[in-house]
Amino acid sequence: MIRAIRHRLLGLLEIAKSFLLYDEETAVAVDAGHSRWCARRIVDTLGEIGLRPGDLRLCILTHRHWDHSGGVRALKSLTGCEVAIHEGDADALGDVVDHRLKDGEVIPLLGGLRVIHVPGHTPGNICLLYGESLIAGDTLIGGHRGLKPPASIYCDDYAEAVRSLERLRGLDFDAVYVSHGVDRLRGGKEELLRLLNHIGSSS
Ligand SMILES: [Zn+2]
Repeated sequence: MIRAIRHRLLGLLEIAKSFLLYDEETAVAVDAGHSRWCARRIVDTLGEIGLRPGDLRLCILTHRHWDHSGGVRALKSLTGCEVAIHEGDADALGDVVDHRLKDGEVIPLLGGLRVIHVPGHTPGNICLLYGESLIAGDTLIGGHRGLKPPASIYCDDYAEAVRSLERLRGLDFDAVYVSHGVDRLRGGKEELLRLLNHIGSSS
């Protein structure tokens, strides 16, 4: 199961989302929001779905940016969860990191969470494959007219971020969950293929 948690970015109308992936006894958070306040929201949401703080086993950061990672130390101290991030972004987070992830690795929680390295937005940017769902972080933005790559000003290497989207083509998923914009509960793979075709025809 997946629950989205919406964190308001200070002073802006924009939202950054975390996600809780969970079953009856275990939860994994994907991204921690920007602050201690976001970490508290995640703990409150655990309660709403009938889990305790200690049931949060792991927080996976899709990448190092502040609006995804700023709350991670607070979340770790509130719940005792471990923290994982791709090795390409791990050094930026320091000693809060317990696990340095690699492309293709399957995290053995909730039936298996597969790490897909999609560099460009940051060097260690990842997506997660969870059942039929792709948790995309900032790899894709959920625009009202379609999925799109993140804005170039927010990317370490925009050309690489766009090129890396090809890595998602061969994966089996239907839903796409994004940190910014509208989630696709079904039909997400078809939308991704439309985006890849558009990129291919305009390059
Ligand atoms: Zn980002």
